[in-house]
Amino acid sequence: MSENKVESLIIIGSGPAGLSAAIYSARARMEPLMIEGEEAGGQLMTTSEVENFPGFEHGITGPDLIATMRKQAERFGTRFLTRNVTKVEFDKRPFQVHVGPTVYQANSIIISTGASAKYLGLPTEKQYYNRGVSACATCDAAFFKDVEVGVVGGGDTAMEEASFLTRFASKVYLFHRSENFKASKIMLERARKNPKIEFVMNTVIEEVLGDGKSMTGLRLKNIISGEVSEKKLQGFFLAIGHQPNTKIFSGILDMNEAGYLKTKPGTTFTNIPGVFAAGDVQDPHYRQAITAAGSGCMASLDCERWFEAQEEGSYV
Ligand code: NDP
Repeated sequence: MSENKVESLIIIGSGPAGLSAAIYSARARMEPLMIEGEEAGGQLMTTSEVENFPGFEHGITGPDLIATMRKQAERFGTRFLTRNVTKVEFDKRPFQVHVGPTVYQANSIIISTGASAKYLGLPTEKQYYNRGVSACATCDAAFFKDVEVGVVGGGDTAMEEASFLTRFASKVYLFHRSENFKASKIMLERARKNPKIEFVMNTVIEEVLGDGKSMTGLRLKNIISGEVSEKKLQGFFLAIGHQPNTKIFSGILDMNEAGYLKTKPGTTFTNIPGVFAAGDVQDPHYRQAITAAGSGCMASLDCERWFEAQEEGSYV
């Protein structure tokens, strides 16, 4: 089943990158169709307090921030489809975007499907998410003033998060499952030199412990000795990497080895003209709501200018 209408722009993904692209492109009269996904809103939907998004002096919850952006995008004419994209065909013009059996067509695409933090896979880490468990120190460190927290991971993210957390926490335990680190030498050394960070090696997290309301600690296992112990902690930060949501673009768009979409440096152009990528789906480094929103704005401007440069010079 194919929709007859050819959209000027389809935006896939509805976090701050997609919604900012929608606000800009709707104001530019591109009448974007946003396919927002069945779990719309992205990572901010699981973030309680956002205190670092400029413009909200007293903070705002993640879901409220998304709801406000969505209303703003709607006000200028963005249309929303709360479904998941199942397949894309970018070798055809107009581009084909499948949502189950329905095919939507568009002359341009902005991809803002984001990335998801990797979880250990423990049922209790989900139960206590935002109740002590977090996957973003930049977002949540300030809520852990003068208490002891843990970080799991051995890459640059773990080093960075542990170091950042020491600005607030009284002590940071860094749990790593081996003695070999993926982290760069310089970041590892910086973390090692920090007197507030204690490295706990060859250790896996068996369970996040809690009292039903908040987490209270971790059950740990030393994988060399087999010893199991419990550690009281008020916070626990997952820093074992992120997974960009790019499965449906595999073999279609250029990606790096970790699966992040490649964009032309300083722009949001992918390797296919007319297809743009914004936000965490193409950014393994910053991963902030504000940087995602900024790159959503860039994608809309890149898209408008790309249209202008086409022979017809119009959106449809
Ligand atoms: P990485 O993939 O580099 O590291 C992930 C770490 O988590 C590894 O130590 C891995 O252990 C561990 N891990 C993975 N799964 C599990 C699990 N199930 N249980 C326990 N431990 C686990 O991811 P990062 O997010 O750290 O970094 C991603 C990229 O971003 C890198 O290129 C990095 O350099 C970059 N980055 C750069 C920064 C900067 O320059 N400021 C800051 C942050 C990231 P193991 O080694 O055993 O597999």
